[in-house]
Amino acid sequence: MSTIRGLIAVPVLLALGHGLSSAQEAPDRIFINGKIVTVDDYFSIQEAVAVRGERFLATGSSEEMRALADAGTTVTDLGGRTVIPGLIDNHNHVIRATEYWPNEARLDGVTSRAEALEILKAKGDALPDGVWLMSLGGWSEAQFLDSQENFTLAELDALAADRPVFIQALYSHAYANTAWFEAMGIPLSANADEQAAAEGLAARVVRDGSGRATGRLNGGFPMVEEALLGFPPVSPEAQVEAVKTAFLHLNSIGLTAVYDPAGVGIRREGYARIREIAAEGELTLRVYHTLGGSMPRTPQDAQDLIAEIEASKPFQGDDFVDLIAVGEIYYAPFHWDGTTEAMEPGEEDIHWAREILLASARGGWSVQTHAVQPATIDHLLDLTEELNAVHPVRPLRWTITHADNITAEQLERVRRLGMNVQLRSNPVMGGREPVFEHFGDAAYHMPPLRTAQESGVSYGLGTDGTKAAQINPFVTLWWAITGKALNGEVIQHQTLTREEALIATTRANAHLMFMEHDIGAIKPGLLADMVVLDRDYMAVPEDEIKEIRPVATMVGGRIVYGEL
Ligand SMILES: [Zn+2]
Repeated sequence: MSTIRGLIAVPVLLALGHGLSSAQEAPDRIFINGKIVTVDDYFSIQEAVAVRGERFLATGSSEEMRALADAGTTVTDLGGRTVIPGLIDNHNHVIRATEYWPNEARLDGVTSRAEALEILKAKGDALPDGVWLMSLGGWSEAQFLDSQENFTLAELDALAADRPVFIQALYSHAYANTAWFEAMGIPLSANADEQAAAEGLAARVVRDGSGRATGRLNGGFPMVEEALLGFPPVSPEAQVEAVKTAFLHLNSIGLTAVYDPAGVGIRREGYARIREIAAEGELTLRVYHTLGGSMPRTPQDAQDLIAEIEASKPFQGDDFVDLIAVGEIYYAPFHWDGTTEAMEPGEEDIHWAREILLASARGGWSVQTHAVQPATIDHLLDLTEELNAVHPVRPLRWTITHADNITAEQLERVRRLGMNVQLRSNPVMGGREPVFEHFGDAAYHMPPLRTAQESGVSYGLGTDGTKAAQINPFVTLWWAITGKALNGEVIQHQTLTREEALIATTRANAHLMFMEHDIGAIKPGLLADMVVLDRDYMAVPEDEIKEIRPVATMVGGRIVYGEL
Protein backbone atom coordinates (compact mmCIF):
# COMPACT_ATOMS: atom_id res chain seq x y z
CA MET A 1 0.00 0.00 0.00
CA SER A 2 1.28 3.45 -0.83
CA THR A 3 1.91 5.92 1.96
CA ILE A 4 -0.77 8.34 2.91
CA ARG A 5 0.67 11.83 2.85
CA GLY A 6 -0.97 12.69 6.11
CA LEU A 7 0.82 10.07 8.14
CA ILE A 8 3.89 12.08 8.93
CA ALA A 9 2.27 15.47 9.31
CA VAL A 10 -0.64 14.42 11.50
CA PRO A 11 0.31 12.61 14.70
CA VAL A 12 -3.32 11.80 15.30
CA LEU A 13 -3.17 9.27 12.48
CA LEU A 14 -0.11 7.59 13.93
CA ALA A 15 -2.09 7.18 17.11
CA LEU A 16 -4.58 5.04 15.22
CA GLY A 17 -2.08 2.21 15.24
CA HIS A 18 -1.70 2.61 18.96
CA GLY A 19 -5.21 1.49 19.75
CA LEU A 20 -7.02 4.77 20.21
CA SER A 21 -10.66 4.46 19.30
CA SER A 22 -11.17 5.02 15.64
CA ALA A 23 -14.35 6.97 16.34
CA GLN A 24 -12.20 9.64 17.91
CA GLU A 25 -9.81 9.79 15.03
CA ALA A 26 -11.87 9.22 11.92
CA PRO A 27 -12.46 12.05 9.46
CA ASP A 28 -15.76 13.92 9.55
CA ARG A 29 -15.85 13.93 5.78
CA ILE A 30 -14.00 12.30 2.95
CA PHE A 31 -14.15 13.42 -0.67
CA ILE A 32 -13.33 10.61 -3.08
CA ASN A 33 -13.01 10.05 -6.85
CA GLY A 34 -11.86 13.58 -7.53
CA LYS A 35 -8.88 15.35 -9.01
CA ILE A 36 -7.40 17.12 -6.01
CA VAL A 37 -4.93 19.76 -7.18
CA THR A 38 -3.24 20.10 -3.81
CA VAL A 39 -0.78 22.92 -4.64
CA ASP A 40 1.45 21.30 -2.03
CA ASP A 41 5.23 21.59 -2.34
CA TYR A 42 5.23 19.01 -5.15
CA PHE A 43 2.07 20.33 -6.82
CA SER A 44 0.84 16.76 -6.37
CA ILE A 45 -2.51 15.66 -7.77
CA GLN A 46 -4.45 13.30 -5.49
CA GLU A 47 -7.71 11.42 -5.85
CA ALA A 48 -9.25 12.05 -2.46
CA VAL A 49 -9.05 14.17 0.67
CA ALA A 50 -10.18 13.74 4.27
CA VAL A 51 -11.32 16.56 6.55
CA ARG A 52 -11.64 16.49 10.30
CA GLY A 53 -12.98 19.52 12.12
CA GLU A 54 -11.57 22.65 10.58
CA ARG A 55 -8.55 21.02 8.98
CA PHE A 56 -7.41 18.63 6.30
CA LEU A 57 -6.57 15.26 7.79
CA ALA A 58 -5.07 13.44 4.84
CA THR A 59 -4.86 13.23 1.07
CA GLY A 60 -4.36 10.14 -1.06
CA SER A 61 -6.31 7.59 -3.06
CA SER A 62 -10.04 7.05 -2.61
CA GLU A 63 -9.24 3.66 -1.14
CA GLU A 64 -6.86 5.15 1.41
CA MET A 65 -9.39 7.77 2.51
CA ARG A 66 -12.10 5.12 2.78
CA ALA A 67 -9.81 3.15 5.08
CA LEU A 68 -9.68 6.12 7.46
CA ALA A 69 -13.45 6.54 7.57
CA ASP A 70 -15.81 5.04 10.11
CA ALA A 71 -19.59 4.87 10.38
CA GLY A 72 -19.78 8.54 11.34
CA THR A 73 -17.86 9.78 8.30
CA THR A 74 -19.75 11.49 5.50
CA VAL A 75 -18.53 10.19 2.15
CA THR A 76 -18.84 12.48 -0.86
CA ASP A 77 -18.17 11.15 -4.35
CA LEU A 78 -16.74 14.01 -6.38
CA GLY A 79 -17.53 12.25 -9.65
CA GLY A 80 -14.17 13.19 -11.11
CA ARG A 81 -14.48 16.91 -10.36
CA THR A 82 -11.41 19.06 -9.86
CA VAL A 83 -10.71 20.54 -6.43
CA ILE A 84 -8.27 23.37 -5.74
CA PRO A 85 -7.26 25.14 -2.52
CA GLY A 86 -9.42 28.13 -1.55
CA LEU A 87 -8.28 31.09 -3.61
CA ILE A 88 -6.66 34.09 -1.95
CA ASP A 89 -6.81 37.66 -3.27
CA ASN A 90 -3.76 39.47 -1.95
CA HIS A 91 -5.24 42.92 -2.55
CA ASN A 92 -8.97 43.39 -2.19
CA HIS A 93 -10.55 46.36 -0.43
CA VAL A 94 -13.49 44.19 0.56
CA ILE A 95 -14.16 45.68 4.01
CA ARG A 96 -14.86 49.04 2.42
CA ALA A 97 -16.93 47.33 -0.28
CA THR A 98 -19.32 45.85 2.25
CA GLU A 99 -20.64 49.33 3.11
CA TYR A 100 -22.88 49.57 0.06
CA TRP A 101 -22.87 45.91 -0.97
CA PRO A 102 -26.68 45.49 -0.67
CA ASN A 103 -27.11 48.23 -3.29
CA GLU A 104 -24.53 46.89 -5.69
CA ALA A 105 -24.70 45.02 -8.97
CA ARG A 106 -21.26 43.60 -9.78
CA LEU A 107 -20.06 43.54 -13.37
CA ASP A 108 -16.80 41.67 -12.76
CA GLY A 109 -15.65 40.01 -15.96
CA VAL A 110 -18.89 40.73 -17.88
CA THR A 111 -17.95 41.13 -21.55
CA SER A 112 -21.26 42.30 -23.00
CA ARG A 113 -22.65 45.80 -22.55
CA ALA A 114 -26.16 44.46 -23.13
CA GLU A 115 -25.64 41.85 -20.42
CA ALA A 116 -24.30 44.51 -18.06
CA LEU A 117 -27.55 46.45 -18.49
CA GLU A 118 -29.56 43.28 -17.82
CA ILE A 119 -27.60 42.62 -14.61
CA LEU A 120 -28.15 46.19 -13.44
CA LYS A 121 -31.87 46.03 -14.29
CA ALA A 122 -32.34 42.73 -12.44
CA LYS A 123 -30.57 44.11 -9.37
CA GLY A 124 -32.68 47.28 -9.42
CA ASP A 125 -35.88 45.25 -9.74
CA ALA A 126 -34.91 43.20 -6.70
CA LEU A 127 -34.22 46.20 -4.42
CA PRO A 128 -36.82 47.55 -1.98
CA ASP A 129 -38.59 50.78 -2.95
CA GLY A 130 -36.45 53.89 -2.87
CA VAL A 131 -33.17 52.07 -2.27
CA TRP A 132 -30.36 53.29 -4.52
CA LEU A 133 -28.96 51.06 -7.25
CA MET A 134 -25.19 51.21 -7.55
CA SER A 135 -22.28 49.56 -9.26
CA LEU A 136 -19.18 50.89 -7.57
CA GLY A 137 -16.33 50.10 -9.92
CA GLY A 138 -14.64 46.86 -10.87
CA TRP A 139 -15.59 47.36 -14.53
CA SER A 140 -14.90 49.55 -17.50
CA GLU A 141 -16.60 49.96 -20.88
CA ALA A 142 -13.34 48.71 -22.43
CA GLN A 143 -14.17 45.17 -21.31
CA PHE A 144 -17.29 44.96 -23.50
CA LEU A 145 -17.11 43.11 -26.81
CA ASP A 146 -20.42 44.31 -28.28
CA SER A 147 -20.15 48.06 -27.72
CA GLN A 148 -17.99 50.34 -25.61
CA GLU A 149 -20.33 53.32 -25.95
CA ASN A 150 -21.26 55.49 -22.99
CA PHE A 151 -24.40 54.55 -21.11
CA THR A 152 -27.08 57.15 -21.81
CA LEU A 153 -29.42 58.95 -19.46
CA ALA A 154 -32.34 57.17 -21.18
CA GLU A 155 -30.71 53.78 -20.53
CA LEU A 156 -30.07 54.68 -16.89
CA ASP A 157 -33.66 55.83 -16.49
CA ALA A 158 -34.88 52.58 -18.02
CA LEU A 159 -32.95 50.64 -15.37
CA ALA A 160 -34.92 52.29 -12.58
CA ALA A 161 -37.09 55.37 -12.92
CA ASP A 162 -38.13 55.48 -9.28
CA ARG A 163 -34.80 55.11 -7.51
CA PRO A 164 -31.44 56.88 -7.86
CA VAL A 165 -28.91 54.96 -9.93
CA PHE A 166 -25.17 55.61 -9.73
CA ILE A 167 -22.76 53.39 -11.60
CA GLN A 168 -19.05 54.00 -11.42
CA ALA A 169 -16.53 52.88 -14.06
CA LEU A 170 -13.32 52.12 -12.14
CA TYR A 171 -12.16 55.42 -10.62
CA SER A 172 -12.60 57.17 -13.93
CA HIS A 173 -16.17 58.37 -14.41
CA ALA A 174 -19.75 57.47 -13.58
CA TYR A 175 -23.28 57.49 -14.93
CA ALA A 176 -26.41 58.49 -13.07
CA ASN A 177 -30.13 58.59 -13.79
CA THR A 178 -32.68 61.36 -13.51
CA ALA A 179 -33.71 60.29 -10.00
CA TRP A 180 -30.09 60.68 -8.86
CA PHE A 181 -29.86 64.20 -10.33
CA GLU A 182 -33.07 65.05 -8.49
CA ALA A 183 -31.82 63.54 -5.22
CA MET A 184 -28.61 65.54 -5.49
CA GLY A 185 -30.38 68.76 -6.47
CA ILE A 186 -28.45 69.02 -9.72
CA PRO A 187 -30.56 70.40 -12.58
CA LEU A 188 -30.79 68.20 -15.69
CA SER A 189 -30.62 71.25 -17.93
CA ALA A 190 -28.29 74.19 -17.48
CA ASN A 191 -27.51 77.17 -19.70
CA ALA A 192 -23.97 78.33 -20.39
CA ASP A 193 -23.87 80.70 -17.42
CA GLU A 194 -25.20 78.08 -15.03
CA GLN A 195 -22.66 75.58 -16.32
CA ALA A 196 -19.83 78.06 -15.84
CA ALA A 197 -20.98 78.78 -12.27
CA ALA A 198 -21.49 75.10 -11.33
CA GLU A 199 -19.46 73.81 -8.40
CA GLY A 200 -18.76 70.44 -6.84
CA LEU A 201 -20.50 67.47 -8.42
CA ALA A 202 -22.63 69.72 -10.61
CA ALA A 203 -19.43 70.84 -12.32
CA ARG A 204 -18.58 67.20 -13.17
CA VAL A 205 -21.73 66.63 -15.18
CA VAL A 206 -21.14 66.06 -18.89
CA ARG A 207 -23.78 67.99 -20.84
CA ASP A 208 -24.72 67.94 -24.52
CA GLY A 209 -24.74 71.01 -26.81
CA SER A 210 -28.12 72.11 -25.50
CA GLY A 211 -26.95 71.98 -21.87
CA ARG A 212 -28.82 68.78 -21.02
CA ALA A 213 -27.10 66.20 -18.79
CA THR A 214 -25.96 63.10 -20.71
CA GLY A 215 -25.98 61.03 -17.54
CA ARG A 216 -22.19 60.91 -17.43
CA LEU A 217 -20.00 62.49 -14.75
CA ASN A 218 -16.26 62.93 -15.26
CA GLY A 219 -13.64 63.80 -12.73
CA GLY A 220 -11.96 60.56 -11.65
CA PHE A 221 -11.10 59.89 -8.05
CA PRO A 222 -12.20 63.28 -6.59
CA MET A 223 -15.62 63.05 -8.30
CA VAL A 224 -16.16 59.52 -7.04
CA GLU A 225 -15.20 60.51 -3.50
CA GLU A 226 -17.54 63.48 -3.60
CA ALA A 227 -20.42 61.43 -4.96
CA LEU A 228 -19.92 58.95 -2.13
CA LEU A 229 -20.68 61.69 0.39
CA GLY A 230 -24.18 61.90 -1.05
CA PHE A 231 -24.95 58.20 -0.67
CA PRO A 232 -27.65 57.43 1.90
CA PRO A 233 -26.29 56.00 5.16
CA VAL A 234 -26.71 52.27 5.78
CA SER A 235 -27.95 51.14 9.20
CA PRO A 236 -25.65 49.05 11.43
CA GLU A 237 -28.01 46.05 11.12
CA ALA A 238 -27.97 46.30 7.35
CA GLN A 239 -24.17 46.52 7.49
CA VAL A 240 -23.92 43.19 9.30
CA GLU A 241 -26.05 41.54 6.64
CA ALA A 242 -24.00 43.32 3.99
CA VAL A 243 -20.76 41.80 5.27
CA LYS A 244 -22.29 38.34 5.20
CA THR A 245 -23.74 38.64 1.71
CA ALA A 246 -20.58 40.24 0.34
CA PHE A 247 -18.44 37.45 1.73
CA LEU A 248 -20.78 34.78 0.37
CA HIS A 249 -20.45 36.39 -3.02
CA LEU A 250 -16.68 36.11 -2.74
CA ASN A 251 -17.08 32.45 -1.73
CA SER A 252 -19.23 31.91 -4.82
CA ILE A 253 -16.34 32.96 -7.05
CA GLY A 254 -13.85 30.73 -5.23
CA LEU A 255 -12.32 33.09 -2.67
CA THR A 256 -11.75 31.92 0.88
CA ALA A 257 -9.28 34.58 2.08
CA VAL A 258 -8.29 38.13 1.25
CA TYR A 259 -5.58 40.56 2.23
CA ASP A 260 -7.47 43.80 2.77
CA PRO A 261 -5.30 46.92 2.45
CA ALA A 262 -7.83 49.36 3.97
CA GLY A 263 -8.27 52.20 1.47
CA VAL A 264 -9.45 55.72 0.93
CA GLY A 265 -12.80 56.45 2.56
CA ILE A 266 -13.00 53.26 4.62
CA ARG A 267 -14.93 53.63 7.88
CA ARG A 268 -13.23 52.29 10.99
CA GLU A 269 -16.43 50.68 12.29
CA GLY A 270 -16.02 48.19 9.48
CA TYR A 271 -13.18 46.41 11.27
CA ALA A 272 -15.04 46.13 14.57
CA ARG A 273 -18.08 44.78 12.75
CA ILE A 274 -16.09 42.04 11.08
CA ARG A 275 -14.54 41.05 14.40
CA GLU A 276 -18.01 40.80 15.95
CA ILE A 277 -19.24 38.57 13.14
CA ALA A 278 -16.11 36.45 13.48
CA ALA A 279 -16.70 36.11 17.22
CA GLU A 280 -20.13 34.68 16.45
CA GLY A 281 -18.50 32.13 14.14
CA GLU A 282 -20.30 33.52 11.12
CA LEU A 283 -17.49 34.71 8.88
CA THR A 284 -17.16 32.72 5.66
CA LEU A 285 -14.11 34.57 4.39
CA ARG A 286 -10.77 34.99 6.11
CA VAL A 287 -9.76 38.64 6.26
CA TYR A 288 -6.24 39.72 7.10
CA HIS A 289 -6.02 43.46 7.00
CA THR A 290 -3.79 46.45 7.46
CA LEU A 291 -3.93 49.23 10.00
CA GLY A 292 -6.25 51.44 8.00
CA GLY A 293 -8.90 54.01 8.33
CA SER A 294 -7.13 57.11 7.16
CA MET A 295 -5.09 58.48 4.30
CA PRO A 296 -2.07 60.19 5.86
CA ARG A 297 -1.06 63.22 3.80
CA THR A 298 0.37 65.73 6.30
CA PRO A 299 3.06 65.65 9.00
CA GLN A 300 0.27 65.68 11.59
CA ASP A 301 -1.35 62.64 9.92
CA ALA A 302 2.05 60.92 10.00
CA GLN A 303 2.46 61.61 13.71
CA ASP A 304 -1.04 60.29 14.38
CA LEU A 305 -0.27 57.13 12.46
CA ILE A 306 3.02 56.62 14.30
CA ALA A 307 1.17 56.95 17.61
CA GLU A 308 -1.32 54.35 16.40
CA ILE A 309 1.44 52.00 15.24
CA GLU A 310 3.08 52.30 18.66
CA ALA A 311 -0.20 51.72 20.50
CA SER A 312 -1.22 48.65 18.47
CA LYS A 313 0.18 45.17 18.04
CA PRO A 314 -0.08 43.05 14.92
CA PHE A 315 -1.02 39.35 14.91
CA GLN A 316 -3.48 39.37 17.80
CA GLY A 317 -6.39 37.89 15.86
CA ASP A 318 -7.40 34.41 14.85
CA ASP A 319 -7.69 32.26 11.74
CA PHE A 320 -10.57 34.34 10.41
CA VAL A 321 -9.61 37.92 11.05
CA ASP A 322 -6.35 39.56 11.96
CA LEU A 323 -4.53 42.86 11.73
CA ILE A 324 -1.22 42.00 10.12
CA ALA A 325 0.46 45.07 8.62
CA VAL A 326 0.75 48.81 8.12
CA GLY A 327 -0.33 50.03 4.68
CA GLU A 328 -1.07 50.17 1.83
CA ILE A 329 -0.90 53.97 1.91
CA TYR A 330 0.84 55.23 5.03
CA TYR A 331 2.21 58.49 3.64
CA ALA A 332 0.59 59.48 0.37
CA PRO A 333 3.16 62.14 -0.70
CA PHE A 334 5.92 59.50 -0.49
CA HIS A 335 4.48 56.58 -2.42
CA TRP A 336 0.90 57.01 -3.70
CA ASP A 337 1.77 56.97 -7.41
CA GLY A 338 -0.27 56.10 -10.50
CA THR A 339 -0.16 53.89 -13.57
CA THR A 340 1.97 56.44 -15.41
CA GLU A 341 3.27 58.96 -12.86
CA ALA A 342 5.92 58.38 -10.19
CA MET A 343 6.04 60.21 -6.87
CA GLU A 344 8.71 62.82 -6.35
CA PRO A 345 8.75 63.14 -2.58
CA GLY A 346 10.50 66.09 -0.99
CA GLU A 347 12.91 65.85 1.94
CA GLU A 348 10.09 66.25 4.45
CA ASP A 349 7.98 63.56 2.79
CA ILE A 350 10.92 61.16 2.92
CA HIS A 351 11.49 62.11 6.54
CA TRP A 352 7.94 61.17 7.54
CA ALA A 353 7.98 57.95 5.52
CA ARG A 354 11.22 57.02 7.30
CA GLU A 355 9.67 57.73 10.69
CA ILE A 356 6.63 55.60 9.90
CA LEU A 357 8.73 52.73 8.57
CA LEU A 358 11.03 52.97 11.57
CA ALA A 359 8.11 52.83 14.01
CA SER A 360 6.78 49.84 12.09
CA ALA A 361 10.10 47.99 12.16
CA ARG A 362 10.56 48.67 15.87
CA GLY A 363 7.06 47.41 16.64
CA GLY A 364 7.47 44.18 14.67
CA TRP A 365 5.04 45.27 11.97
CA SER A 366 4.87 44.01 8.44
CA VAL A 367 4.40 46.87 6.00
CA GLN A 368 2.56 46.85 2.70
CA THR A 369 3.54 49.76 0.45
CA HIS A 370 1.58 50.92 -2.57
CA ALA A 371 4.24 51.63 -5.21
CA VAL A 372 3.83 51.25 -8.95
CA GLN A 373 6.62 53.11 -10.76
CA PRO A 374 10.35 52.31 -10.63
CA ALA A 375 11.19 55.79 -9.32
CA THR A 376 8.73 55.40 -6.44
CA ILE A 377 9.92 51.87 -5.74
CA ASP A 378 13.52 53.16 -5.65
CA HIS A 379 12.62 55.65 -2.93
CA LEU A 380 11.08 52.84 -0.91
CA LEU A 381 14.00 50.46 -1.43
CA ASP A 382 16.52 53.18 -0.51
CA LEU A 383 14.72 53.78 2.78
CA THR A 384 14.23 50.08 3.46
CA GLU A 385 17.93 49.32 2.90
CA GLU A 386 18.82 52.16 5.26
CA LEU A 387 16.44 50.87 7.97
CA ASN A 388 17.41 47.27 7.38
CA ALA A 389 20.91 48.00 8.70
CA VAL A 390 19.33 48.76 12.07
CA HIS A 391 16.17 46.67 12.08
CA PRO A 392 16.40 43.74 9.64
CA VAL A 393 13.12 43.58 7.75
CA ARG A 394 13.31 40.02 6.41
CA PRO A 395 11.33 38.52 9.30
CA LEU A 396 8.67 41.21 8.79
CA ARG A 397 8.00 40.26 5.14
CA TRP A 398 7.49 43.80 3.94
CA THR A 399 5.63 43.88 0.63
CA ILE A 400 5.51 46.17 -2.37
CA THR A 401 1.95 46.12 -3.60
CA HIS A 402 0.96 46.61 -7.26
CA ALA A 403 4.62 46.92 -8.30
CA ASP A 404 3.34 47.07 -11.90
CA ASN A 405 6.59 48.40 -13.34
CA ILE A 406 9.16 46.93 -10.97
CA THR A 407 12.48 46.25 -12.73
CA ALA A 408 14.67 43.13 -12.63
CA GLU A 409 17.30 45.09 -10.67
CA GLN A 410 14.70 46.13 -8.13
CA LEU A 411 13.46 42.56 -7.79
CA GLU A 412 17.04 41.63 -6.93
CA ARG A 413 17.10 44.29 -4.18
CA VAL A 414 13.71 43.02 -2.97
CA ARG A 415 15.06 39.48 -2.85
CA ARG A 416 18.14 40.48 -0.85
CA LEU A 417 15.98 42.32 1.69
CA GLY A 418 13.60 39.37 2.02
CA MET A 419 10.72 41.52 0.89
CA ASN A 420 7.70 40.31 -1.12
CA VAL A 421 5.84 41.58 -4.15
CA GLN A 422 2.11 41.68 -4.83
CA LEU A 423 1.07 41.91 -8.48
CA ARG A 424 -2.42 42.83 -9.65
CA SER A 425 -4.60 41.82 -12.57
CA ASN A 426 -6.32 45.16 -13.16
CA PRO A 427 -5.04 45.46 -16.77
CA VAL A 428 -7.47 42.66 -17.61
CA MET A 429 -10.32 45.19 -17.84
CA GLY A 430 -8.69 46.78 -20.88
CA GLY A 431 -8.48 50.51 -21.51
CA ARG A 432 -4.68 50.28 -21.53
CA GLU A 433 -4.25 52.97 -24.23
CA PRO A 434 -2.82 55.58 -21.81
CA VAL A 435 -0.28 53.07 -20.52
CA PHE A 436 0.76 52.04 -24.04
CA GLU A 437 0.93 55.69 -25.10
CA HIS A 438 3.19 56.46 -22.17
CA PHE A 439 5.43 53.39 -22.13
CA GLY A 440 5.16 51.96 -25.66
CA ASP A 441 5.81 48.22 -26.00
CA ALA A 442 7.21 48.08 -22.46
CA ALA A 443 3.55 48.11 -21.37
CA TYR A 444 3.34 44.47 -22.54
CA HIS A 445 5.65 43.65 -19.60
CA MET A 446 3.53 45.37 -16.94
CA PRO A 447 3.32 43.80 -14.50
CA PRO A 448 6.44 41.69 -15.12
CA LEU A 449 4.89 38.32 -14.25
CA ARG A 450 7.57 36.16 -15.87
CA THR A 451 10.45 38.23 -14.53
CA ALA A 452 9.01 38.00 -11.01
CA GLN A 453 8.44 34.26 -11.39
CA GLU A 454 12.05 33.70 -12.46
CA SER A 455 13.56 36.11 -9.95
CA GLY A 456 13.16 33.82 -6.97
CA VAL A 457 11.30 36.60 -5.15
CA SER A 458 8.23 35.68 -3.18
CA TYR A 459 5.32 37.16 -5.11
CA GLY A 460 1.59 36.58 -5.39
CA LEU A 461 -1.37 37.64 -7.53
CA GLY A 462 -4.31 39.79 -6.55
CA THR A 463 -6.79 42.18 -8.07
CA ASP A 464 -6.94 45.61 -6.39
CA GLY A 465 -10.74 45.19 -6.24
CA THR A 466 -13.41 46.09 -5.60
CA LYS A 467 -13.43 49.55 -7.23
CA ALA A 468 -10.13 49.91 -9.08
CA ALA A 469 -10.41 46.37 -10.46
CA GLN A 470 -12.62 43.35 -10.99
CA ILE A 471 -12.49 40.68 -8.27
CA ASN A 472 -13.09 37.31 -9.96
CA PRO A 473 -9.96 35.22 -9.30
CA PHE A 474 -10.61 33.02 -12.35
CA VAL A 475 -10.46 36.14 -14.51
CA THR A 476 -7.13 36.94 -12.84
CA LEU A 477 -5.81 33.41 -13.49
CA TRP A 478 -6.99 33.56 -17.13
CA TRP A 479 -5.28 36.94 -17.65
CA ALA A 480 -2.01 35.71 -16.10
CA ILE A 481 -2.02 32.62 -18.31
CA THR A 482 -3.25 34.10 -21.62
CA GLY A 483 -2.04 37.69 -21.35
CA LYS A 484 -5.42 38.87 -22.62
CA ALA A 485 -7.79 41.62 -21.62
CA LEU A 486 -11.48 40.76 -21.32
CA ASN A 487 -12.13 42.22 -24.77
CA GLY A 488 -9.76 39.59 -26.22
CA GLU A 489 -6.83 41.91 -26.92
CA VAL A 490 -3.37 40.61 -25.99
CA ILE A 491 -2.02 43.17 -23.51
CA GLN A 492 0.56 41.12 -21.66
CA HIS A 493 3.62 39.37 -23.11
CA GLN A 494 4.83 38.06 -19.77
CA THR A 495 2.60 35.17 -18.81
CA LEU A 496 2.57 32.29 -16.33
CA THR A 497 1.82 28.59 -16.60
CA ARG A 498 -1.40 27.30 -15.01
CA GLU A 499 0.63 25.82 -12.16
CA GLU A 500 2.55 29.04 -11.51
CA ALA A 501 -0.60 31.18 -11.64
CA LEU A 502 -2.43 28.90 -9.21
CA ILE A 503 0.48 28.86 -6.76
CA ALA A 504 0.57 32.68 -6.98
CA THR A 505 -3.13 32.81 -6.07
CA THR A 506 -2.93 30.33 -3.20
CA ARG A 507 0.11 29.43 -1.15
CA ALA A 508 2.26 32.33 -2.36
CA ASN A 509 -0.38 34.71 -1.03
CA ALA A 510 -0.64 32.72 2.20
CA HIS A 511 3.08 33.39 2.62
CA LEU A 512 2.64 37.15 2.14
CA MET A 513 0.19 37.05 5.03
CA PHE A 514 2.33 34.82 7.31
CA MET A 515 -0.37 32.14 6.94
CA GLU A 516 1.47 29.46 4.98
CA HIS A 517 1.13 27.02 7.87
CA ASP A 518 -2.64 27.43 7.86
CA ILE A 519 -3.91 28.10 4.35
CA GLY A 520 -2.91 28.04 0.69
CA ALA A 521 -2.76 24.32 -0.07
CA ILE A 522 -4.67 21.10 0.40
CA LYS A 523 -2.31 19.50 2.84
CA PRO A 524 -2.76 17.57 6.09
CA GLY A 525 -2.82 19.98 9.02
CA LEU A 526 -3.85 23.06 7.05
CA LEU A 527 -7.27 24.65 7.42
CA ALA A 528 -9.76 22.90 5.15
CA ASP A 529 -10.35 25.69 2.62
CA MET A 530 -11.05 24.28 -0.83
CA VAL A 531 -13.10 24.84 -3.95
CA VAL A 532 -14.80 22.14 -6.04
CA LEU A 533 -14.89 23.35 -9.64
CA ASP A 534 -17.40 22.87 -12.45
CA ARG A 535 -14.54 22.05 -14.83
CA ASP A 536 -10.89 21.15 -14.75
CA TYR A 537 -8.67 24.20 -14.30
CA MET A 538 -5.65 22.15 -15.38
CA ALA A 539 -7.20 20.84 -18.61
CA VAL A 540 -9.89 23.14 -20.02
CA PRO A 541 -8.93 25.22 -23.08
CA GLU A 542 -7.12 28.36 -21.85
CA ASP A 543 -9.91 30.68 -22.84
CA GLU A 544 -12.37 28.79 -20.66
CA ILE A 545 -10.42 29.42 -17.47
CA LYS A 546 -12.23 32.69 -16.83
CA GLU A 547 -15.58 30.87 -17.11
CA ILE A 548 -14.78 28.37 -14.34
CA ARG A 549 -17.30 28.50 -11.52
CA PRO A 550 -17.19 26.79 -8.14
CA VAL A 551 -19.72 24.03 -7.52
CA ALA A 552 -18.99 24.32 -3.82
CA THR A 553 -16.63 26.29 -1.59
CA MET A 554 -15.44 25.01 1.77
CA VAL A 555 -13.96 27.23 4.46
CA GLY A 556 -12.54 25.65 7.61
CA GLY A 557 -14.27 22.33 6.91
CA ARG A 558 -17.67 23.96 6.39
CA ILE A 559 -19.35 24.21 3.00
CA VAL A 560 -20.25 27.88 2.80
CA TYR A 561 -21.32 28.03 -0.83
CA GLY A 562 -22.97 25.48 -3.14
CA GLU A 563 -23.69 21.85 -2.54
CA LEU A 564 -21.98 18.50 -2.84
ZN1 LIG B 1 -2.94 50.78 -4.04
